Amino acid sequence: MILCGMQTLPEEFVRQLTISLGPERVGEVVSFITGSPASTAVRVNPFKTEAVPPQFASGKETYSRWGRLLPERPDFALDPLFHAGAYYVQDASSMYLESILPLMTRMREERPEGPFTVLDLCAAPGGKSTHLLSMLREIPGSFLVSNEVIRSRASVLYENISKWGAANVVVTNSDPSDFQSLGEYFDVIVVDAPCSGEGMFRKDPEAVAQWSMDNVRLCAARQRRILSDILPCLRPGGLLVYSTCTFNPVEDEDNVAWTASQYGMEVLEQRHFYPGDPGAGEGFFFSSLRKGGTYGVSGRSAGKGRGRSGGAPLRFKEDVPWVNEGFHLFRCGSLIKAFPAAVTVPMLELTEGGARLRVLASGTAVAGVKDGRSGGKQVIVPQFSLIQSEVYRRGSLPEVEVSLDAALEYLRRGLPALPGAPAGYVVLTYGGVPSGLVKNLGNRCNNLLPPSLRLRIS
Ligand code: SAM
Repeated sequence: MILCGMQTLPEEFVRQLTISLGPERVGEVVSFITGSPASTAVRVNPFKTEAVPPQFASGKETYSRWGRLLPERPDFALDPLFHAGAYYVQDASSMYLESILPLMTRMREERPEGPFTVLDLCAAPGGKSTHLLSMLREIPGSFLVSNEVIRSRASVLYENISKWGAANVVVTNSDPSDFQSLGEYFDVIVVDAPCSGEGMFRKDPEAVAQWSMDNVRLCAARQRRILSDILPCLRPGGLLVYSTCTFNPVEDEDNVAWTASQYGMEVLEQRHFYPGDPGAGEGFFFSSLRKGGTYGVSGRSAGKGRGRSGGAPLRFKEDVPWVNEGFHLFRCGSLIKAFPAAVTVPMLELTEGGARLRVLASGTAVAGVKDGRSGGKQVIVPQFSLIQSEVYRRGSLPEVEVSLDAALEYLRRGLPALPGAPAGYVVLTYGGVPSGLVKNLGNRCNNLLPPSLRLRIS
């Protein structure tokens, strides 16, 4: 072990890093890892706010136009805007993913017909997926499949995706090999692979304790399995992003070279970000590769030839008056869901067309349908996910701006008093962003925050 400043780093790790960086540069990076605090950055949500919240205004620019590198770490848990999905806390280096936006734009221009499909294969807790959703606002007819294989992590992913508010997303909990039934379906696949986590050393002493060369080799073998399982799902000429938060070449450059030679892919770019690099955070490896073949010529659509099962178009749209233009409504069991009009059919085909995927969510659940009392007319009730989503038509429900204390009280599932507010469903806003839904009964309110989102700190 090498003892430096606040941290003790494994000798073999430092030796590997020296091979990659050279003896002059390595000292600088090691002293950043061992002697300086971890960085903090946020990425603002364009679905919720165009402006950077004032508390982040002093932050430095990042690789994302929506990102800010902060001078110190605020207490995010006590900021209602964080819980409302107005921004995402993310390592600044990872924001380099935005460099693929011009490539995606060009691909869409080359193949304007059909849906533009993106898969984030290893997606929890949702940093890359929320970023991709922000970018896909600029790619017409696009949607994202956000997948996480580990069930408990998939629930966290689902919560973060719902908070972000995009409706052009399907959340799945599947093994990479399960996607093969789709054929060459995706225009872009992002594999942000599970790795040995050398870029987590400043944040997490456990990552240092668990590091070994054996583990690096195990991770590299697993990464190759994941890539082998998913590459058959990429369109000819499609784009693969392979990234890790580790520095060693075994998991990074060696795997890129292996993928390129094994699958006849062209390496477009590969680069490391180290702590201390300008604009970088903790550390990241980014690579992009293009699959062989002519883009847009072949490739298969998941739902071709398959009929849709379940889910009926909603006949009486006026029953759900809270929805923006440009979305189709479907009744799926006791839920009414909204899908962006341009991708409704492919999203439904993907989720209901018989692919072997475990789908946790698709589109936005906007309302529930309840039986009326004693067999009366069915009642349509807004869902919490409606007010988190781009689907929600602002002002279609009464809105009340609340104070910081009231917003936090709401998040603890307390029952804020709303003197003067109309009876019925009311949206609470904080900083202008929809943050809560209540049913105002006059003398009291029912708090409709899902219990899983409850703030547990005082
Ligand atoms: N992309 C995420 C983000 O930006 O928030 C971080 C992803 S993390 C580096 C890697 C993810 O891969 C983890 O959520 C982990 O559960 C998942 N994973 C672990 N084993 C996997 C496997 N065999 N196949 C696919 N994903 C796996």
